[in-house]
Amino acid sequence: MHLPDPANPTVFLVGAGPGNPGLLTLRAAEVLARADLVLYDQLVPERLLDLVNPAAERVCVRDLPGNHPDRYPHIHQLLIEKGLAGKTVVRLKGGDPLIFGRGGEEAEALRSAGVVYEIVPGVTAALAAGAFLEIPLTHRNYASAVALVTGHELPSKPGNRLDWKALAAFPGTLCIYMGVARLPVIVAELLKHGKDPNTPAAIVERASTGDQRAVHTRLADLEAARRHAGLEAPGLILVGEPVAHHPAQSWWETRPLFGRRVLVTRPAHQAGGMVRTLEHLGAVVYQQPTVEIREPSDFGAFDQALNQIRDGEWDWLVFTSANGVHAVLRRLEALNRDLRDLGRVRLAAIGPKTAAALREYRLRADLVPDATYSSDGLVAALAPQVAGRRILLARANRGRELLRDELAKIATVEQVTVYDQVDVVTPNPAVLDQLRRGEIRYITLPSSRIAENLLRAFDDTIRGRVERGEVNLVAISPQTGDAVRQMGYRVAAEATSFTADGLIEAVVRLVRAEGSPA
Ligand code: SAH
Repeated sequence: MHLPDPANPTVFLVGAGPGNPGLLTLRAAEVLARADLVLYDQLVPERLLDLVNPAAERVCVRDLPGNHPDRYPHIHQLLIEKGLAGKTVVRLKGGDPLIFGRGGEEAEALRSAGVVYEIVPGVTAALAAGAFLEIPLTHRNYASAVALVTGHELPSKPGNRLDWKALAAFPGTLCIYMGVARLPVIVAELLKHGKDPNTPAAIVERASTGDQRAVHTRLADLEAARRHAGLEAPGLILVGEPVAHHPAQSWWETRPLFGRRVLVTRPAHQAGGMVRTLEHLGAVVYQQPTVEIREPSDFGAFDQALNQIRDGEWDWLVFTSANGVHAVLRRLEALNRDLRDLGRVRLAAIGPKTAAALREYRLRADLVPDATYSSDGLVAALAPQVAGRRILLARANRGRELLRDELAKIATVEQVTVYDQVDVVTPNPAVLDQLRRGEIRYITLPSSRIAENLLRAFDDTIRGRVERGEVNLVAISPQTGDAVRQMGYRVAAEATSFTADGLIEAVVRLVRAEGSPA
């Protein structure tokens, strides 16, 4: 058995924050990355699971046998069992684990079983609501205290510990969790005990995410306003003078893509940067990869090319994607070789992302086109330098032949396949559902191939919607736009810079041109 060591906890009770993945603490990210088992609550943002050690087992507590909202010992049992076995277990909970999260009970169970644990706090819903609605929960002039209150205990419930009289008289902001379903009772209790019906009040749903929705009104009108806006549980109720002191739209609500649902179609391992940027702009991001990057099925020609490079047989090595860069460097490593085997070959990169991938290995691209990050741009940039030279193109198992055809007019050119692109479209049920309900209105298309795969797989669902302008197809380049048009689809926008950032900019321009949301 594993011996308990106070310096080496095995179980971590971790706050996941309020929903915006960026609000996770560094400590939480660290322990997720080395977990053996992650036991997460249903409300935890799914995207955080991207941070989990790929080898870890992930279990949503909802799926545990015998799960019942009011009965948690089976979770305690699992935490204890795995903890005693020396496994690194992360118990991931929404917000902060000790604020209405039953983290205290779990810690107690672990302590009495002799399991060493650590508690990692998280941003609790009230703090997120304050920041993302711009409501100062305390204020020198009108709120000297904050109360975190559960709205779950009915005033009529025997053993109810909430003193509504004291809460009505509380000299600060009330942040009521789990209260939306009982809102009329809560408001009635506060008013009955003398709270001013004009006290500013708000309800917020999914604070800190692109889905954040809020109503602001006076306490007496809160239920009517909630119904009018269609806000449902779970949500947070805020009551107090500071609630009146918020701008019409918070800094978050004015983000250019706030509330827009955007589909990202890049291969899963390459989507992270784009997803983060879109989220940062306020979007709600869905992912539907249609292509996977794999090792080439045959390394024969690849390895031979690496030997030729080492032996100085090529003047230029040209990369048309970051994937190609990683494939070459990974292969050298797999062969127990290193950068020195690239010798004096000159390196060309099709665009800034590919050049950045080279920099990850301390390699500098000798050539990157100035502005046009496409095969044409690369040909134009290379042409003046490569006449009569020997050029090796590192590429996928498929792609356009333009680069080879054009360069072959002036130089000796060969292509070598360094990675395979495989079409894999397994429709994500959440994406299908959101498309059918007309919620996803922007689809980003980062290559012709991805566009073709996606449109073929979702044709029935989206063709009519694209025609009616309800779904916007945004292409990374005119070539990708052409591929989309050839399939009989309308292209709503094309990027002017042919990169992921360019694609995002095109979405932002489109949203701006459409004006404010309906
Ligand atoms: N431990 C969590 C609270 C769990 S209780 C925390 O610290 O935030 C669940 C309640 O939290 C919900 O009913 C709702 O009232 C509130 N809540 C959690 N996340 C929220 C969010 N992003 N926006 C609004 N309310 C939220």
